[in-house]
Amino acid sequence: MQILEIVEKVADVINQEKDYLSELDRVIGDSDHGVNLSRGFQKLIEEKDGLKNLNYSDFFNRIAMVLISNVGGASGAIYGTGLMKVAQSLKGKENLDLDTVIIASDAMVAGIKMRGKAEAGEKTMLDTIIPSVEALKQNKDKDFSVILESVELAAKTGMESTEAMLATKGRASYLGERSIGHIDPGAMSSYLIIKTICENLKVGE
Ligand code: ADP
Ligand code: MG
Repeated sequence: MQILEIVEKVADVINQEKDYLSELDRVIGDSDHGVNLSRGFQKLIEEKDGLKNLNYSDFFNRIAMVLISNVGGASGAIYGTGLMKVAQSLKGKENLDLDTVIIASDAMVAGIKMRGKAEAGEKTMLDTIIPSVEALKQNKDKDFSVILESVELAAKTGMESTEAMLATKGRASYLGERSIGHIDPGAMSSYLIIKTICENLKVGE
């Protein structure tokens, strides 16, 4: 499957899960996470011709720019900065082989940490993304299907782990102890994105 088709699949899932993501955000935030993300992905799809015939670096840079300008909320800037770092890491790369994907994934994590000043365990999207990148690295020499399954499972386990966490970053941190007992909306959106990417890479295997 082509990379642009995967972006379209991700946009579909974010649209389908828009209300669910906003509902999670209603509980520990301000009810807009699904609305925010789906606005950004909608814009990406409307302007998808602008994503054609680009090298990987420009492709991710363009996605970053569209998300930064259209998502709004903390998550737009955070996802966008991560993707800008991905774009930088892919300069001059013509193939997305596994080692390149690992470098790009590390860049994503570094960008998110840089923008949000958060670490693992603070009840954010990082609690989904960091374990999935770890799983990718640990399983990189295994069969492609095993890699995909392990990445998806690590993302799911990471997302679920946010339920028990105390939020110390972002809007949910205003709730203090009351943030405990609820899944973080950004951790859920990251899980849905990673799951969709893995499922569609499996199809295209
Ligand atoms: P806002 O909080 O501005 O309304 P969203 O609702 O779109 O923005 O996104 C909220 C999500 O953003 C959170 O669930 C969390 O996963 C993520 N987030 C918030 N702050 C940070 C941060 N400092 N670092 C990483 N992720 C963060
Ligand atoms: Mg919000």
